[in-house]
Amino acid sequence: MSHRVFAALAALALLGVSAVRPPNDPRITAMVAAVSSSQLLADDRRLVGFGTRNDFSETTSTHTHGVFAARDWLLRSFSRIAATSHGRMTVRTDDFIQPKTARTPRAVHESSVVAVLRGDEPGRAYVMSSHYDDCNGDCTDGLGVAPGADDNASGTSAVLEAARVMASTHFRGTIYFVCFDGEELGLWGSAHFAKELKAQGVTIDADLNNDIIGNTHGGNGASELSVIRVFSNALSPTAKPATVNLLGSENDSPSRELSRFAAEIIPQYVQNFTVRQIFRADRYLRGGDQESFQDEGFPAIRFVEPNENFTHQHQNVRIVHGTQFGDLPRYIDSHYLARATQANVATLAALALGPTPPTHVQIVLAHLGYTTTLRWANVRDASRYQIVWRSTTSPIWEHAQNVTGALQATVHASYDDNIFAVRSVDAQGLMSPAVYPLPTRK
Ligand SMILES: [Zn+2]
Repeated sequence: MSHRVFAALAALALLGVSAVRPPNDPRITAMVAAVSSSQLLADDRRLVGFGTRNDFSETTSTHTHGVFAARDWLLRSFSRIAATSHGRMTVRTDDFIQPKTARTPRAVHESSVVAVLRGDEPGRAYVMSSHYDDCNGDCTDGLGVAPGADDNASGTSAVLEAARVMASTHFRGTIYFVCFDGEELGLWGSAHFAKELKAQGVTIDADLNNDIIGNTHGGNGASELSVIRVFSNALSPTAKPATVNLLGSENDSPSRELSRFAAEIIPQYVQNFTVRQIFRADRYLRGGDQESFQDEGFPAIRFVEPNENFTHQHQNVRIVHGTQFGDLPRYIDSHYLARATQANVATLAALALGPTPPTHVQIVLAHLGYTTTLRWANVRDASRYQIVWRSTTSPIWEHAQNVTGALQATVHASYDDNIFAVRSVDAQGLMSPAVYPLPTRK
């Protein structure tokens, strides 16, 4: 159907204002149900069992000890998973020499583990990531014990488990399951990986980064079993194209649309589990591998437990005045880790199974008025579209209007008082993340 015919049908297209939520997708439900807390706990303990995964244990690693013993185990584990993918999953390392820095004593060999599950539609790619390196109280100590059960064997086990439950399913998009090396001393592995993909012309549509997702008791005594935090960065003031010309757009960066997408999907598929969106790039004084993707212009979010315990992270294992320090496996809550993993599986599967987001989304600012008109270009796997909007102070989309058979529609709500976007919906009812519009005067 031509765009002109689409436009002619526009008047017939509006199907009502309610955010009609389609039933859950049985493929996603099955993958979420397949996540195993006992498998996650076993993998977490296996990673801790290598004694240390410090970057500087690379020269002293054996088959059973050190960062490269852990890497080799990850390679073997992903290779076993790849055998269930009917030839669509390949496993490799991403290697490079990191030169000495002001914080480090010498150059060091970095080696991230990458499993790629090829999708059916070229040009769409998603990443689920973690870092498998770790630290005790000294991030350049290659010899001391560093269990790293929560930071970040938890995230690494989650990436392995997600790969396991997703490998036999066909997705539209390609999925990279990645365990980065060199996070602790400067996001080295992820920076190298994201830059290489960018240089190869690969566009990453989303990175779901997992770092510290397995502990449920904060150092302040707080405990929340049914929430996970998702951090996302705002739109950069220097973002191009001129999205910033649209007043109030800073809260609608691609990473933040991804955060909203996760916040909407996760409670649908993981019972009694919700997202606490945090609208900043990461916690104070901390960082994570999602930033390497954001730096290359790729949407990225970080999953992290709601109540961290700082006497466990980056500490030598010791007891001081009766307090146990150290990142030990006894503090991993495998049921929580399973739900955090399910949250990732649901989000990743919905992204990679779902339709391409609409392109060329525009908001028409031709005149002062009381209604809002949006238009967009057709994408091949959408069967309809949905205009979504929210008040400027709301974190989530509050209203939706379906549009079938048209590539433009007008909503009876003010663009001065609301924020608008458009998303694709496919024949199965799966939705893309919402796309924020660029302004047009005609
Ligand atoms: Zn970490």
